[in-house]
Amino acid sequence: MKKVYSIVGARPQFVKAAVVAHAFAREAQAEHHLIHTGQHFDENMSDIFFSELEIPAPLHRLAVGGLSHGAMTGRMLEQVEDIFLKNRPDAVIVYGDTNSTLAGALAAVKLHIPVAHVEAGLRSKNRAMPEEINRIATDHVSDLLFAPNDTAVKQLLSEGLPASKVSNVGDVMFDACLRYAQGTGDDSILAALDVAPLGYTLATVHRAENTDSPDRLAGILEGFRRVGSPIVLPLHPRTRGKIEAFGLQVPPNVKLITPVGFRAMLELERHARCIATDSGGVQKEAFFMRKPCVTMRDETEWTELVQSGWNVLVGANSAFIADAIAGAAAPADWPAFYGDGDASGKIVAQVLALPALAR
Ligand code: UDP
Repeated sequence: MKKVYSIVGARPQFVKAAVVAHAFAREAQAEHHLIHTGQHFDENMSDIFFSELEIPAPLHRLAVGGLSHGAMTGRMLEQVEDIFLKNRPDAVIVYGDTNSTLAGALAAVKLHIPVAHVEAGLRSKNRAMPEEINRIATDHVSDLLFAPNDTAVKQLLSEGLPASKVSNVGDVMFDACLRYAQGTGDDSILAALDVAPLGYTLATVHRAENTDSPDRLAGILEGFRRVGSPIVLPLHPRTRGKIEAFGLQVPPNVKLITPVGFRAMLELERHARCIATDSGGVQKEAFFMRKPCVTMRDETEWTELVQSGWNVLVGANSAFIADAIAGAAAPADWPAFYGDGDASGKIVAQVLALPALAR
């Protein structure tokens, strides 16, 4: 029986690990466990994902949230290493680009436990982003690099990583959208928000480059004000704190709500006219839902969405934001950029094909 551990800690990782956990559940010869680092810990940023997405409860739960990057990564590294030493998994899976990703990968590789990185090869080419450093470091210590698309494969090879480690399995977020959008159908959130299908823009804002700059955050809010029509904004707690700290005003057309669960989020995406975001995951979900996306960043990792016209980059410039939302339209072509919806099955098969750890 192979023992595999997945390390999660932040909201996007719960969504990604959910489909991998479900794929492991189909394998009789595998034991799959989650370690939750506690990077996100609020009910609506963490627990709701476990219940709604039917993710097995974590076997280990740390409480390493709300610290500086160095302190957070360091404490996770120490505590995750301790769990690995006691439990000796045959392989470790890490997801995306957070401090939990890096800490999990480093702890495993130092103990000679094979590491698989889901969403390998993504690059913004902006090293000021903490996520970019986490991605580069994780990719370069991992044994299996699960790229979500061809762009990511090319990137990994261009950095000298061996082709034998790299495979394009497709995007686990596509799996998640297909799995959880089915049977959702509960659009009561629209009535509760008093918005009509196709009558609003859905927005999210949480990237440090936007939330930590009063000018950028003010530019985004001013862009929303200029749009005039309803904007539904499920707001990340960090952004809410910064709006208050900077003394910024939320425009009256913005319906500010606390973060919603994944199923409600999919409903809001499905019925939006357009999606405006700085989230990595939400950019792709817009595409999966065939909605035009306005990305409030200066660059994106998902460049194929920009090239194909599904996504437009507007930074934090209020005029660009307002114009792009007003003019947003979905292109006719919907290319299969992100695989066939079974990335999780391919990941599990490759992880289980690794040689068992000598005990
Ligand atoms: N999400 C959610 N509720 C919200 C906002 C986002 O369920 O109120 C989901 C979203 O659908 C996506 C994931 O959270 O699957 C993205 O996480 P986030 O934007 O925090 O991180 P990123 O993708 O930028 O790393």
